[in-house]
Amino acid sequence: MLKNFAANSISTTPGKAARRKAHPMHLGVLLATFGVFSLRHSSSSSVFVQRASASSAQWPAHWAAIEEMRTSGAGVASPVDTMGAEALAISGAGSYRQGKAFRFQTLVSCMLSPQTKDAQTAAAFRNLVELCKPLDMTSDALARFTEEDVQERIKMTSFYKVKAKNLLNAAHLCNDKYEGDLPLRIEQLLEFPGVGPKVGFLTFSIARGEDHGICVDTHVHRIANRLGWVNTIQAKSNGPEKSRKALELILPKEKWGAVNGLLVGFGQSICEAKRPKCNLCLLAKEGSGCLHYGALNASSSSSS
Ligand code: SF4
Repeated sequence: MLKNFAANSISTTPGKAARRKAHPMHLGVLLATFGVFSLRHSSSSSVFVQRASASSAQWPAHWAAIEEMRTSGAGVASPVDTMGAEALAISGAGSYRQGKAFRFQTLVSCMLSPQTKDAQTAAAFRNLVELCKPLDMTSDALARFTEEDVQERIKMTSFYKVKAKNLLNAAHLCNDKYEGDLPLRIEQLLEFPGVGPKVGFLTFSIARGEDHGICVDTHVHRIANRLGWVNTIQAKSNGPEKSRKALELILPKEKWGAVNGLLVGFGQSICEAKRPKCNLCLLAKEGSGCLHYGALNASSSSSS
């Protein structure tokens, strides 16, 4: 079955994509294409340092290859597809996909996920759905419980005490200020405790079909750097946030909603952090623009 990487609301499947106006080449791509291209290779650390990467201009080819791997290649089965935020919200809200329950559950799954594996996020989410039964997990239903109740159900996630507090705060804010629903504006959601750009943008993308920014987690940050789309891997602080801003200059807005699902699944199944399975990857070839693969090759040929 072909996956829809607009899981976060914007489809990249040909049907919808064909209806969209082609995006003009972006300034970021132009700069990267015509800018100074500089690679330094440290043989001791096998680290490439680049100032302006030609690879950022190759993102459409990278995207197509990753999409192919995710739909019919080695990246078909990834945890994010069954346990990601959208999959959880759909499973919890059932047929109420456009309703308050779906939107609130999207927020809950996104708030549970930081620093936590998908399987743990899914377990915590399902525990909260159970806790609220026989009601659907709306903000009203969750707000009836105490912080201890919520902590107990989500303690398999990291920072569960803080998350429990933030989840209940979010439920009360939705009830008190937004009639039991998510706010209508992203700025309002970003005022919720525990909701930063990553959680806020993903929530709005799934729940409201609005893309206000790219959700950059550790997978997106790592892969975007490996492929040379951005050059933020050595940032001393806020690397993912720097990646987000750089990616928003490179990728057309119509792709923003799909980046997370595409790259997270690719990172979980093939381009893993410690041992990427380059032997399964369509981008493991000379000229593909993968800086990590280039570094590995250079390292192995210099040692042979
Ligand atoms: S590091 Fe390996 S798996 Fe990741 S994109 Fe490059 S070639 Fe593919």
